[in-house]
Amino acid sequence: MNSRSAEPLATALGKRAAGPLAKMGLVTVDDLLRHYPRRYGDPGTLTDMDRLQLGEHVTVMARVASATVRPMRSRGGALLQATVTDGRHELALTFFAKRPGALRPHEDKLRPGRAGLFTGVVSEYRGTRQLTHPDYVLVGVDADDDEAAMTEASRPIPIYPATASVPTWRIQKAVRTVLDPLTEDDVPDPVPDEVRARLGLPTRLDALRAVHVPDSPHHWQTGRRRLRFEEAFVLQAALAQRRAAVAAQEATARPPRADADGLLADFDAALPFTLTDGQRTVGTEIAAELARPRPMQRLLQGEVGSGKTVVALRAMLQVIDAGGQAALLAPTEVLAAQHARTLRAMLGPLAQGGLLGGAAHGTRVALLTGSQNAASRKEALLDAASGEAGIVVGTHALLGDQVQFADLGLVVVDEQHRFGVEQRGALRAKARVAPHLLVMTATPIPRTVAMTVFGDLSTSTLTEIPAGRAGITSHVVPADNPRWMQRVWEKVREEVDAGRRAYVVCPRIHPDDDVDVPGRSGAAARRAAEAGEFDDVPEFLELAGPEDGAPDRAPLRAVLEVADMLRSEPRLHGVEVGVLHGQMGPGDKESAMARFASGDVPVLVSTTVVEVGVDVPEATVMVVFDADRFGISQLHQLRGRIGRGADAGLCLLVSTAGPGTPAATRVEALAATTDGFELATLDLELRSEGDVLGAAQSGRASSLRLLRVVQDADLIASARTESSGVVEADPDLGRHPALAAAIAAELDAEQEEFLERA
Ligand code: ADP
Ligand code: MG
Repeated sequence: MNSRSAEPLATALGKRAAGPLAKMGLVTVDDLLRHYPRRYGDPGTLTDMDRLQLGEHVTVMARVASATVRPMRSRGGALLQATVTDGRHELALTFFAKRPGALRPHEDKLRPGRAGLFTGVVSEYRGTRQLTHPDYVLVGVDADDDEAAMTEASRPIPIYPATASVPTWRIQKAVRTVLDPLTEDDVPDPVPDEVRARLGLPTRLDALRAVHVPDSPHHWQTGRRRLRFEEAFVLQAALAQRRAAVAAQEATARPPRADADGLLADFDAALPFTLTDGQRTVGTEIAAELARPRPMQRLLQGEVGSGKTVVALRAMLQVIDAGGQAALLAPTEVLAAQHARTLRAMLGPLAQGGLLGGAAHGTRVALLTGSQNAASRKEALLDAASGEAGIVVGTHALLGDQVQFADLGLVVVDEQHRFGVEQRGALRAKARVAPHLLVMTATPIPRTVAMTVFGDLSTSTLTEIPAGRAGITSHVVPADNPRWMQRVWEKVREEVDAGRRAYVVCPRIHPDDDVDVPGRSGAAARRAAEAGEFDDVPEFLELAGPEDGAPDRAPLRAVLEVADMLRSEPRLHGVEVGVLHGQMGPGDKESAMARFASGDVPVLVSTTVVEVGVDVPEATVMVVFDADRFGISQLHQLRGRIGRGADAGLCLLVSTAGPGTPAATRVEALAATTDGFELATLDLELRSEGDVLGAAQSGRASSLRLLRVVQDADLIASARTESSGVVEADPDLGRHPALAAAIAAELDAEQEEFLERA
C-alpha cells in the first residue's frame, strides 16, 4: 500500500486520539478507513427508547427536551440534568462537576430542540432511566450556516463498531480527519479502471467517502456494494493466480487404458449395480482430467450415500492401470479402517494381487494408521514403497516421514475440512511431480461458498441418490415428555427385534465433561487433545453456543450415562448396548463398530464419531440427544448414517430447545427436509460469516469485512469472471500494482492458510 494509507494514526491524528483506536486494532490510516460503519442512523427518525436495557452500552438518537444546571446541596458540587426524548419516551442525562461553570459548555450545547446521538451505559435513578456523563454529538451544531447545518443534519449518521472508551462519534471524527484531505492519488484502487468502467463502479476513494460520509442511504449503499465487490475481487484474483500456478505445474498423465484389460474394466464388469447418470458424467470428467499432464484439482460433493466412493475408486483404478498409486486420506482411524474394508470388499479378487485366488493383475489395499502393530505397519509400509499396494488408505499417519510411495499419482481426501494445509502439502511432497487431487465432501456447499472457500478447486456434484434407498423420516422429540421418550425406546426395540440396528448419539462422553461452554476449553476436548486423540475434538467445536438456550437447562447427555440408562431400560431388556467414542483405543473402537455391524450389539451409544462415512446398511434408527446443541450440517451428516439400505430410516431428534429459539429453528428445519443444499443454505444464514469462512477469518483483521457469501452471490460470481480475465492477461499482475499490493497485504500467511484450509 502507498505511504498515505500506511501512515500511523499516531502521526495522522496525534498520540492522544490514536491511543484508544490502537486498542481496537486500528493502527494505520488504512485500518481506520476499513473500519466501516455497522449501520446508519437516520437523522429524521428518533430511536425508540422503549427498548433500552439497564446496563447496556447504547447509542440513541434523540432530541433535547430540557437542560438545567444546579448546585448540589449535599455534596457541594454542581449537577447538569438534561432530558432527551424520542417523542414518546424520555431519557435523563446527568453530568456532575465541582463547579457550575464547568457544566456551562454542555448546557450551551444541549439546547432544547437539538437532535443528536447520545452514548453511554443505561442506569436507573429513582425509577428513571439515565445516562451518566454520556458522550454525545449534536447534529448540525458544528456547521457554519443554516444550509450546511441542514445538509449535515440530513446525512445518514454512520454508526461504527465502538467500545465504551471510544464511542462511535469519536471514530467518525477521526475518520473524517484522515479521509477529508485524501485525493485519488492517495488511494490506489485494486479494481482496474476497465473493470470499474464496465461495471459502473465508483473509485475506491469515492466509495470510502460514500460509506463514511454519505449524502443519502443510496449513496452509502452504492459505496458499500463497491467495497464488497473489491473484497470479492481481490480474493478471487488471488485464487485465480493460485489456479494458474497449479495449472503450470506438471503431473504425470494417467490416461485410461484403451484395451479392456485393466483393473477398471474388470471392476466395471463386476459391478453389481449400474452407475447413476451423475456418477457416469463425473467419472468421465475425472477420467479426462487424469489423462492430462497437469494436476487435477477437483472437489467432488454429493449427499451422504450418493455414491462418491465408487467414483473415487474408479479414478484410483484408472491411475493404477496407468502404473501409479493412489492414497486415500480419511479424517479418523475408524473411517480409514472402514474405507479399507469397503474398498477391499468392492474390489474382491481384484484386491488380492499376488495372493492365491487373486486376480492375475490384481492390486492390494494397504491400511496405515498411527496405532497399528509393528508387523502390520511394516507390511503396509513395504507395500506402499514397493508399489504392491495400488491403494494406500490412512489418516494423517500417511503423512509421516517413513511412508514412501513407489509412484503416487492420485490423492483422494475424504471430508477435506479436517485436513490442514501442511498435510495436503506434505502428501503432495511425497510424489516426484504433483499428484492429482480429488477431494470428497458430503457437506453440500452452495456454489458461491465453494467459489470462495474452495476457489482453487473445480467442482463436481452428484445430485441423485442411487435407486433402492427407502429414505429417512425425522421427528423432533421434546426431551421433557416422558411418554414420547418411552415411545422412542419402544421404537428402537421394534427395529432391533426386526433385525435392524439403532444409533444413539450424545454430545459428550463423561457426565462430568464440561462442554456446556463449547470450544477448545471443554475438559473432554482438552483430554482428547492431550491424549493425542483428535477424533473427538471437532464434535465439541461444532456445538452450538449457549446463547441458544435457557441458562438453567439440564446438563448435556453423556455416552456413558445414557448407555447405563439403556441397559436398565425395561423396553430394551435383553438387548445388547455398546459404546463408541474417541477416548477408546483404536482396537476397541474397531471391535465396537464390528459388533454393531454384525448385529451382536444392535444398539450403539456414541459421540459424533459415527458422523462421517460409517456404513452399516441395517442401521435404521438414530436417536440424537441434545439435538438442539448440534449444528445443522452435523445433524444432517449424522442422519445420513441411517436409511442406507432398503429399509426406511427414522431419525428422532431429542431437543430441549425452547420454542422460537434459533436452536429450535435448526432442529425443526432438520425434521422438515432432507435436502442438503437447502439445509446448508439455512445453516449459513443462521451462522455468522466468521463460522462459515473458518477460524482464520473470525475475530481478527481479514480482507472480508463486508462480503457475505450467501447474499452476495452475484458479486462473487462477477468478481470471479472479472478477476480471471485480469489474471489471465497479466499473470504476475505487473501492470496492476494496486491489485498485487492488495493481494499481498491481505493474503498474509494466515489468510493463505485459510484459502487452502479445507
Ligand atoms: P457416499 O460415499 O457418497 O456416502 P457411497 O459411495 O459410500 O456413498 O455409496 C453408498 C452405498 O451405495 C454403497 O453401499 C454403494 O455400494 C452403493 N452405491 C453406490 N453407487 C450405487 C449405484 N449407482 N446404484 C446402487 N448402489 C450404489
Ligand atoms: Mg463415503
